[in-house]
Amino acid sequence: MTHRKLFLPGPTEVDDRTLAAMATPMIGHRSSEFRELYRSTSEKLQELLETSSSVFVLTGSATMAMEMAVRNACQVRCLNLVCGAFSQRWHEITRACGIEADRLDVDWGRAHTPEEVRRALGESTYDCVTVVYSETSTGILNPLEAIAETVREFPDTFLLVDAVSAMGGTKISGDFLGVDVLFAGVQKAFGVPPGIVPCLVTPRLLERSSAIADKGYFLDFEVHAKAHSKWQTLSTPAISQLYALNVRLDQIFEEGLEAVYQRHQDMANITRTWARERFELFTDPDYLSPTLTVIRNTRGISVAGLNEYLAGKGVVLANGYGSLKEKTFRISHMGSVQPEEVEELLGWIDEFLEKN
Ligand SMILES: *Cc1c(COP(=O)(O)O)cnc(C)c1O
Repeated sequence: MTHRKLFLPGPTEVDDRTLAAMATPMIGHRSSEFRELYRSTSEKLQELLETSSSVFVLTGSATMAMEMAVRNACQVRCLNLVCGAFSQRWHEITRACGIEADRLDVDWGRAHTPEEVRRALGESTYDCVTVVYSETSTGILNPLEAIAETVREFPDTFLLVDAVSAMGGTKISGDFLGVDVLFAGVQKAFGVPPGIVPCLVTPRLLERSSAIADKGYFLDFEVHAKAHSKWQTLSTPAISQLYALNVRLDQIFEEGLEAVYQRHQDMANITRTWARERFELFTDPDYLSPTLTVIRNTRGISVAGLNEYLAGKGVVLANGYGSLKEKTFRISHMGSVQPEEVEELLGWIDEFLEKN
């Protein structure tokens, strides 16, 4: 089977050097080599996130981290900011964990505003707010800095951030923002095969967690913190993915953080300009994510048909998420992908549009 280059918002295309790191011979997870691999990966993530808080590298998918965040932080009542499918999932997870929770909705394609968040926080006592930074179903990049500033007006309210399709593609300064939990999915803007989750956890979050009962075991941050303090993991981790992430972080620093973020912005600009000339953007233009573009299917093309055509070129893009299927389609421009590759993809879509 020939490989189709991924322009999906996860998993994203993995470059050859990162892929080769996955084939490193296996080591024991209680060995000194493993501790060195884990320590260096975690420290590189601290540098990327400009934080002195611990950054765990958990084995699992990002949805696991969503559940861990609320279980370890919410005792009283949680405010879930909902602006799309993933933020809605976080509300469902919170409720499923038996935590009292309210949702603050905005229309899909729009961003949350700090004013609305402040009003909601004034109406009830919340000890947690969840926000998805880059909402991958709608292409929104929420104004995280302003929201974090607002939440900080409420000293006992902790901010939990899903940066799954943002981290690695846009600058996030964890300590400056004052977030309490912040996690990514490596299969998004890092361009690493799925299976591990970088997750920043602040000391005050760990302190609150220790006062919360019935967190289970595998999802208890305290248990992970104990292992992490020895550069170990609780249980057998996805070692191959750790090798890959470690190498990918080296590449990111070699390219330079500013250059990486600029490359994402450049690819976003190319894609948006192209989309505006042929379709419309689905997303509020003031809050566009730099890692993916969600396009309103104003020409009524068959997105499935487009992908069949693109298969012949050896690439694949994403249909709209859930109810937005065929009404929108999504072009991911994150991870190791280069602007020339995005331009090539857009050229092929133009070929399809001429014929259809
Ligand atoms: C992909 C994604 C998730 C879920 O990630 P999994 O690794 O599949 O659990 C959560 N939030 C956002 C914003 C995402 O893009």
